[in-house]
Amino acid sequence: PTLRNPEQWCRSFNHFIGQCLIKDFEARPSVTHLLEHPFIKQVHDKDVALQQQLAALIQEQQEAGCKTKTKHERINTRKTLIIQSCPDDDLVNLEFLDEVRFNKRYDELQVYTYVGDILIALNPFQNLSIYSPQFSKLYHAVKRVDNPPHIFATADAAYRGMVTFCKDQCIIISGESGAGKTESAHLIVQHLTFLGKANNRTLREKILQVNPLVEAFGNACTAINDNSSRFGKYLEMKFTLTGAVIGAKISEYLLEKSRVIKQATGEKNFHIFYYIYAGLYHEDKLKTYRLPDRTPPRYIDSQHRKVMQDIVSSKLYKEQFDAIQEGFRNIGFTEEEVTSVYRILSAILNTGNIEFAAITSQHQTDKSEVPNSEALENAASLLSIGPEELQEALTSQCVVTRGETIIRTNTVDKATDVRDAMSKALYGRLFSWIVNRINSLLHAAESGMNVGILDIFGFENFKKNSFEQLCINIANEQIQFYFNQHIFALEQMEYQSEGVDASLVEYEDNRPILDMFLQKPMGLLSLMDEESRFPQATDQTLVDKFEDNLRCKYFWIPKRVELCFGIQHYAGKVMYNVDGFLEKNRDTLPADIVVVLRTSENKLLQQLFSSPLTKTAEMLIDVLNYQIPTSYFISAKPHYVDTMEMMRHPEETTNMRRQTVASYFRYSLMDLLSKMVVGQPHFVRCIKPNDDRQALRFCKERVMLQLRYTGILETVNIRRQGYSHRILFEEFVNRYYYLAFRAHQMPETSKENAVAILERAKLKDWVLGTTKVFLRYYHVEQLNLLLREVI
Ligand code: ADP
Ligand code: MG
Repeated sequence: PTLRNPEQWCRSFNHFIGQCLIKDFEARPSVTHLLEHPFIKQVHDKDVALQQQLAALIQEQQEAGCKTKTKHERINTRKTLIIQSCPDDDLVNLEFLDEVRFNKRYDELQVYTYVGDILIALNPFQNLSIYSPQFSKLYHAVKRVDNPPHIFATADAAYRGMVTFCKDQCIIISGESGAGKTESAHLIVQHLTFLGKANNRTLREKILQVNPLVEAFGNACTAINDNSSRFGKYLEMKFTLTGAVIGAKISEYLLEKSRVIKQATGEKNFHIFYYIYAGLYHEDKLKTYRLPDRTPPRYIDSQHRKVMQDIVSSKLYKEQFDAIQEGFRNIGFTEEEVTSVYRILSAILNTGNIEFAAITSQHQTDKSEVPNSEALENAASLLSIGPEELQEALTSQCVVTRGETIIRTNTVDKATDVRDAMSKALYGRLFSWIVNRINSLLHAAESGMNVGILDIFGFENFKKNSFEQLCINIANEQIQFYFNQHIFALEQMEYQSEGVDASLVEYEDNRPILDMFLQKPMGLLSLMDEESRFPQATDQTLVDKFEDNLRCKYFWIPKRVELCFGIQHYAGKVMYNVDGFLEKNRDTLPADIVVVLRTSENKLLQQLFSSPLTKTAEMLIDVLNYQIPTSYFISAKPHYVDTMEMMRHPEETTNMRRQTVASYFRYSLMDLLSKMVVGQPHFVRCIKPNDDRQALRFCKERVMLQLRYTGILETVNIRRQGYSHRILFEEFVNRYYYLAFRAHQMPETSKENAVAILERAKLKDWVLGTTKVFLRYYHVEQLNLLLREVI
């Protein structure tokens, strides 16, 4: 055959390979067999990437040794699960979405269900045996309908999407706290390392250890979840163009630093503090790290002051400590670095035990001192700084007024605040440093493609909701907005621009709520920032400011409850208590503390405090609107990525201004979205079947509520009525021309030929736009199936 345009041909060949051949052990002819085809061989000889791809496939196929699996294979597990797909695997197939069917699936431990391309995951609250290597093999480039829905299928779809179309992918996991997001993220990483054939075993182990390590520092036991993520995490797994995993990168968002100094009733501090206590106790090193061994430090259990014995004798904590040690070592941290990390953590615990007393003399009433210097000396020693200097920085501050430096003394309350601010800063910076260090150790040397996995804290609504819950819930509004944009709004827009009838489907747009939060200058965050700039502002003046300026049905001030405001989020009503909002937003760390910490002989500590105090994003925020312009979905990269790059290296920017948490938060959200929008998204919606964390308990109302507010019910409607796949004529003909033409015909990539293919394939119910074929989601499966038969 003649190749009119070999380059284009190779590309479409890759498509074709990716679409219908790659790694389907069950139905396709062997790859070796394929290569005997003269036509394929010709391309193969010219295309190095394809050669590599096929070589890998051949090897894999040989390894698999034709151990093909039958469609209805039973896998013997403790609770023998029947592996077969059935019509209600995909809710779009159903006439109605009723919870009875969901309930039945849950009872049968079918925890995964599709809604079109979206995966719904019900938390089983028990260990299922569906995540073994056997299952990894099962969910390896097979047609989706051949297997029951599974989180591995989503990972596989993302992986295949990346390899086939050379496009970055992003998996967005959302759901309430305790719904199973973090577990899902782990399972995805597990399956991606399997698919990415990390040849290098060490790299695979390293990547698998990243999550547990970071989570030891970023997760904690809350009232809702014993392993609740207290930060948002975006993990990017990096792959070569042929799909081999080569590295990873994490971005962290909004660590809940306030947990270091105080925890709500029934909650705990970050896991790592308990782990080091138990671990160092067993290694008989509590003294080395100057950790008190009788009563636990205040920060560890500010509520009950639990008996020390509970913590140090915990087998679980000790095991986790060992796992962390190993994780540090495997990933490549040096002994010196790990020791420094433990020293800083121990210093934080000692810092929390520093107490202040007022010195009352005739002239001065607002001076404080540290009557018992033990904790102070311990902290100073662990931080390798002088105890006097530390005490000085805690109990007084230098103020520059009209060119003159005055030393002001701190009251007991003020000194306590400074102490806690120092602990939070130490922990927050340590956490960021660990994340950055992991990134440099797992840095991918070659450039390639990536699959990003977003595991962001779920929507929260507690008895008492504070600044942290507000930020978390705004982030969730933003993710929901992105979801809506992707699923609904863009869908409608594309129909219209292609001249296809889009009988507009109603959906709950949460844009007005986002406007209320993020608008400048009158949005809630801006108002809070403005108020934070006034030294005299109080929580009351903040509430008044909100009341005066926020006129919108999503916001209200309840009567007879002080210092509170309510928000109607997409996921429900939440009452926020503004107690401490301004302080938390300012998040100030006195310069005196920074100066002292910089004098440390500890290299790591010097590093933590060497960068400028603030990561400014004001410039960026000013030029951006938080709304995602439609063009982001279409163009490969949003235009502001370079600016983002600049923001990541703040030392290169000149305009450094003091930042509030709110504005940094706003920047983080933008940063996150900029990463998400460049990739092809895959959505995983985690659902909590009950609030008691009980296996096999299906609370109908709770499930339906979550399905409703996350837009799943609407999605079901829209997907059932709409066209989820829209493919350019050219691409369509390139991909599927085998179905209507002979291999060597090379038909024109025209609308007419697209129609010829569609007719030949006997598909029903498709629509033609001006440049694209509009297909229902099941059409693509059907086409691929036919393609397979033709080969
Ligand atoms: P989230 O991150 O959404 O807050 P997690 O992923 O931490 O929730 O899940 C909370 C708990 O639910 C886990 O600690 C685990 O006990 C249970 N769980 C979640 N997903 C699964 C799963 N796939 N299999 C078994 N247990 C799970
Ligand atoms: Mg989590």
